[in-house]
Amino acid sequence: MADQGRPRFAFFDGQIVPFEQATVSVLTHSFNYGTGVFGGLRGYWNDDEEQLYVFRPLDHFERLIQSASLMRIRIPYSAAELNEILNNLLRTEGFRQNCYIRPLAYKSTEMIGVRLHDVADALTMFAMPFGSYIVNEDGAHVCFSAWRRVDDNAIPARGKIVGAYANSALIKSDAVLSGYDEALVLNQEGHVTEASAANIFVVRRGVVYTPPPQADVLEGIVRRALITLMRDDLGLEVVERDIDRTEIYVADEVFLCGTGVQVAAITRVEHRPIGSGVMGPITESARNLFFRVVQGRVAQYRDWLSPVYETEQMPE
Ligand code: PMP
Repeated sequence: MADQGRPRFAFFDGQIVPFEQATVSVLTHSFNYGTGVFGGLRGYWNDDEEQLYVFRPLDHFERLIQSASLMRIRIPYSAAELNEILNNLLRTEGFRQNCYIRPLAYKSTEMIGVRLHDVADALTMFAMPFGSYIVNEDGAHVCFSAWRRVDDNAIPARGKIVGAYANSALIKSDAVLSGYDEALVLNQEGHVTEASAANIFVVRRGVVYTPPPQADVLEGIVRRALITLMRDDLGLEVVERDIDRTEIYVADEVFLCGTGVQVAAITRVEHRPIGSGVMGPITESARNLFFRVVQGRVAQYRDWLSPVYETEQMPE
């Protein structure tokens, strides 16, 4: 993974502490059983305005609270309070560059015993400088994973559950170690779900398709944002429906989206080129618009961004 710095601070045990002090025991429940939930947000540095903008933090924190409730983890803060904690953390770090933010709520009791009840909960948050997440963002080469996506009746994919990322790790490493950049993964019914940690869009004859929330996908914040941007700004028809594996083979364009990957074109699946084999025009427009939005350069979507630093008020 490229361009990754190290956090200097963490929110831990209710306060901001030097990162080295934010440690847990090997007996910690979540470390042993995957009983945690997490989020991943990005902060974008806008040099002209000298401002750090976090992309849709309230949506991320609401999803974190929802994931936590699936796992009987109580987060003692509202989404707005979590955003305050985040702002304090980022101001303490003093970032003047793009960064990645990781909130993590977890079962913290030091004990042996698989269960969710009668185990204490904890919350931590940290952030680090961060660049791109996958190589070949302009034209990724993917395969179909031999793994299946976690099922809603096994570990719900709509929760961002620590243990479920063993599934993502299997998917990702088997793809990368076989020479691909990423993998697409099918659900138990054989429909396309997403990549190891990103949602998918497929373009056919000018219409954009993406799997619906009930197809065992994470309900991605970037996915939701792109649906709005493509419909309202690019004037495209966007349809949420099941996608067959072979629709990828005959698609004109395919792209991934998510906080980590941002918007990344897929131009080859195994030995088949997708469309013309290079990034297509809809992917490119969506990507350009997305990057302008997250940097605060599109007035209409400024309210998707939360500024971290206080700005001086102009005198009346
Ligand atoms: N799917 C999975 C499995 C993920 O881990 C992520 C990254 N959080 C996404 C999709 C994209 O979600 P988001 O746009 O909220 O980052």
